[in-house]
Amino acid sequence: MQAYMTQPRKRLLTYLKDHRDETFSAKQISDKLSEVSVSAVYRNLSALEQDGAVRRVSKTGSREVFYQYLAAEECRSHLHLSCKKCGKTFHMDAEETEDLVERIAALDKFALDRSETVLYGVCEACQQPGGCPKKEDDEK
Ligand SMILES: [Zn+2]
Ligand SMILES: [Zn+2]
Repeated sequence: MQAYMTQPRKRLLTYLKDHRDETFSAKQISDKLSEVSVSAVYRNLSALEQDGAVRRVSKTGSREVFYQYLAAEECRSHLHLSCKKCGKTFHMDAEETEDLVERIAALDKFALDRSETVLYGVCEACQQPGGCPKKEDDEK
């Protein structure tokens, strides 16, 4: 039996689930969910993290900790692309994943573990000039 889920925890999980491609700091979440107290947000985030329902994300150049919903069931079937600039995770199409996994298996005789594999790079938005919230200081 699952442990009893409190109302704040449900709200929190639903919110993260509705924005599954985005990452939030505890502060950002408590700003959005005004009916949940800040301490409840922190408490529930760490409980959800232990359950494997959310994961911690760190961003380049930020000391703050961000959280993101982790759809454990669905996410086992496809690969993930993680943007190093904004910290967003993109869920690759299941078919695209299949193509890639099959190609690697055929070329390298290597069985890729899709649930453990994350591809790091820079997302489309962050490739645009000015699209990334963090600006480079030294221009060449
Ligand atoms: Zn996924
Ligand atoms: Zn990005």
